[in-house]
Amino acid sequence: MNTHDSARPEPPPPRLTQTPEPVRAPERAKAPDPTKAPAPAPAPAPAPDGSQTTDGPQGADPPRRPPLRALLAHARPHRRVLLLILVLTLAGSAAGLAQPMVVESSLTALMTGGDLTRELLLMLALLAVSIALTWTQALVSERTAEKVVLHVRRGLIYRLIRLRTAELDRTEPGGLTTRVTSDSTLVQHAATSGVIQLLDGGVHLIATVVLMGMTSLPLLGITSGVLLVVGVAMGVVMPRIRRVTTRAQTSVGEIGAALDRALGAARTVKANGGEATETARAVAAAEDAYRAGLTGARYHATIAVLSALVVQASFLAVIGFGGALVATGALDLAALIAFLLYLFNLGGPVLSLVGGTTSLQQGLGALTRIEEVERMEIETDVDETPARPAGPPPRVTLENVTFAYPGRATTLDGVGLVAPAGGVTALVGPSGSGKTTVFSLLQRFYEPDSGRVLLDGTDIATLSRAEVRRRIAYVEQDTPMLAGTLRENLLYAAPDAADDEVARVLRDTLLDTLVARLPEGLDTQVGARGLALSGGERQRLAIARALLRRPQVLLLDEATAHLDGLSETALRHTVERAAAHCTVLLIAHRLSTVTSADHMVLLAGGRVRDHGRHGELLGRDELYRDLAATQLTAAGA
Ligand code: ADP
Repeated sequence: MNTHDSARPEPPPPRLTQTPEPVRAPERAKAPDPTKAPAPAPAPAPAPDGSQTTDGPQGADPPRRPPLRALLAHARPHRRVLLLILVLTLAGSAAGLAQPMVVESSLTALMTGGDLTRELLLMLALLAVSIALTWTQALVSERTAEKVVLHVRRGLIYRLIRLRTAELDRTEPGGLTTRVTSDSTLVQHAATSGVIQLLDGGVHLIATVVLMGMTSLPLLGITSGVLLVVGVAMGVVMPRIRRVTTRAQTSVGEIGAALDRALGAARTVKANGGEATETARAVAAAEDAYRAGLTGARYHATIAVLSALVVQASFLAVIGFGGALVATGALDLAALIAFLLYLFNLGGPVLSLVGGTTSLQQGLGALTRIEEVERMEIETDVDETPARPAGPPPRVTLENVTFAYPGRATTLDGVGLVAPAGGVTALVGPSGSGKTTVFSLLQRFYEPDSGRVLLDGTDIATLSRAEVRRRIAYVEQDTPMLAGTLRENLLYAAPDAADDEVARVLRDTLLDTLVARLPEGLDTQVGARGLALSGGERQRLAIARALLRRPQVLLLDEATAHLDGLSETALRHTVERAAAHCTVLLIAHRLSTVTSADHMVLLAGGRVRDHGRHGELLGRDELYRDLAATQLTAAGA
């Protein structure tokens, strides 16, 4: 799909996980570090984790890591803090564990009529230490968890905004956004509290078992049933929890996708009475999430009940068996009580282990979805700020360009065309003939399968995408206005443009009179609120915005909407003025455009059928005559 990129090293995109990958020498390391706040000037920075990858074709997929290692990679940058949290947790647990010992010695003291003051003070001290440790631990671990989720989200946001057009073509945006919002939270829990819970639970469990063994080996024998049953149950249920979580998260993504679709085309949905259909789609996904959630809840409940049951059962067994031992004098009453307290304490670590494993499984499920984004190709060369292109407008050449959209038949089949420097070249052709695709290749939204796209002698595949888009401006057919003022809309891509430049561009696009009429001038609100612009005005504003960046080439997809005579003249004037500074390529939809264009290229079925001036084509090409008579009407096609 991407013949040029594979030959050309790219700067590193950020990776969401932190396992080091083989480092490729970057041609230009301009990708900003998405883990930092956006900086105004691009800073050479590695990926958030210092690792690198390519944005090359499928073959460049990073190798799959064992999922657990990938998850732990999120915890690795915080390992010192996590270690501190673990120490705090263990110290808290130790303080808790020491209590039964103190109880045992208090009881012994009580039975032998000794003084209890020391034991009571010790118990109070243990309680205070345990509370302080738990509080500090909770605070530190929450902060670490927030840092992990922020890191994951920054990486995801960075990648999603730079996804390649081909990836966007095959993915639903709604499904992608939930990875930033909810999946990241699951990974956060797993990588921090999940890991801590597991380690704490494990150590706590082992310590309790050792202490129980020291108190009474026969009673420990009875209790080991608890551990065995819970362990087996966890081994069986946990992988299922992971699968169910992945399913639930996928469904949540589908809800997002369904709502995105419905709200994105809200007017169409309303006009066609599509409310019920759209509701059904989103609700079906919601119901699937519900079913997956319910299955998960069933697994959780099973584990919780099993643990509780087994703890209760062994409690009874210990009381019965231990009671008998005390009766025969084989065991101290104090030791039995201490043992029961340990047993009582066993619930904590078992719950920690269950919680930690569940959270780990959920995190692994979510990570699978996050890693899908990591494997998607992104544009890594869009973050530099190229200098304003210098020199006269270039000639634009397509040299034997062949291109097929991924998985589709050939769209452009050996297209060769030349747009002379500084002139106006119109692309005409029936709908679907490949005109927009030519523009997409000129923006490097896609890369040709073969052939070259040249600005004078320079293959645009050798320029970064930032550079290509800096030199070649693209004005789409229906350019949306951003909510904000006219000035904000104009200066969107060139915030530093000087006032006289703005005034010149407004004159060139015949928007100066419109602005002069407005009481608030350039500070008038447009877009969602305020000023309603006509289709023609909107497109001229978009052209003005593009021209303020002083591009060398202007790509213009003419609006097909009806333009009144005045707007039509204004557009022609705008194009003529633009051609004074740039090479203009436009997709023509109106007769007035083609009659005034310097040069015309007629596309049909992904090939160049003919080229020349309007009069010449009209004289010799039947398809062109048809087009001129039907599509290229004075009112626009
Ligand atoms: P035109 O602008 O001349 O109407 P296009 O360049 O938009 O033609 O489309 C040419 C062909 O490519 C059409 O058959 C169209 O369906 C197909 N096509 C356009 N965009 C995509 C895309 N993103 N994915 C797959 N096929 C596409």
